[in-house]
Amino acid sequence: MQANPSEPLSTPVIAAALQVPERFAISLLDSCESTSTLLLERAQQGAASGSVVVCERQSAGRGRRGRVWLSAPGDSLTFSLLWRFPAGMPPPTGLSLAVGVATARALEDMGAAGVQLKWPNDVLADGAKVGGILVETVSEGGCHVVVIGLGLNIHLPREIADAVDIEAGALSSVMPYAPSRNLLLANLLKALAAMLDAFERSGFSVFAEAWQSRHAHAGQFVRILAEGVEPIEGRCIGVDRDGALLLDTVSGLRRIVSGDVSLRPA
Ligand code: ATP
Repeated sequence: MQANPSEPLSTPVIAAALQVPERFAISLLDSCESTSTLLLERAQQGAASGSVVVCERQSAGRGRRGRVWLSAPGDSLTFSLLWRFPAGMPPPTGLSLAVGVATARALEDMGAAGVQLKWPNDVLADGAKVGGILVETVSEGGCHVVVIGLGLNIHLPREIADAVDIEAGALSSVMPYAPSRNLLLANLLKALAAMLDAFERSGFSVFAEAWQSRHAHAGQFVRILAEGVEPIEGRCIGVDRDGALLLDTVSGLRRIVSGDVSLRPA
């Protein structure tokens, strides 16, 4: 497949690149508010596991805690994947970190260099944020249903770089060529499905080592911020088998669970 950054997204091209296309039901839209919002609605209406919404223009792309995810037509890849875990499976703790591992593997397989993961849900390359992950879980009749949202910058238009309060980056800067978005989406879906199969069997623990090997702040001093509470400072030791961040602080080892916290270099 030709690498062409402006190649339009195309369901047949994505399906051709998927080895098991029947595992996914891909809905390709020109515009929507948010692929995750739409897929959560479709989940309530009984959409099958493996349903995917990919969209060129999101008018209200979301990050965690109501934060905004910005994208630009042709320059970004934004999609969400619905997955239904079997009855009896415990809550999918650490899933957003495992999504990070699957994403990093797919990008690295396509030649991306310097991919790192920032706890709990950012994809970095050369220290700049190239992707955001949003995992939302709902319970349905004793089963956990997840909608995994992924936004990636293929290129980084000036207006997005200027609008965000962190250093943003683009995959085109760390890959030998700007990837075909169709091929990238197919590879990400394959990597996510393989990860979800393993996660279903063993949880996050089987991804902990792969996550740590890409940990952007390994051994560094960081500050954990959460609304209404004192920041916690400490040195990042790594993550445990549930994906919690382990911090060496003046008051001993602290275990930080994901949720409504943000990590910043100290
Ligand atoms: P943080 O990692 O800073 O604690 P978060 O995990 O809560 O933030 P996310 O949900 O990952 O944030 O994403 C939303 C944030 O990402 C926005 O507030 C903005 O700073 C940044 N952002 C939004 N769009 C982009 C983009 N296209 N590229 C890089 N960063 C972006």
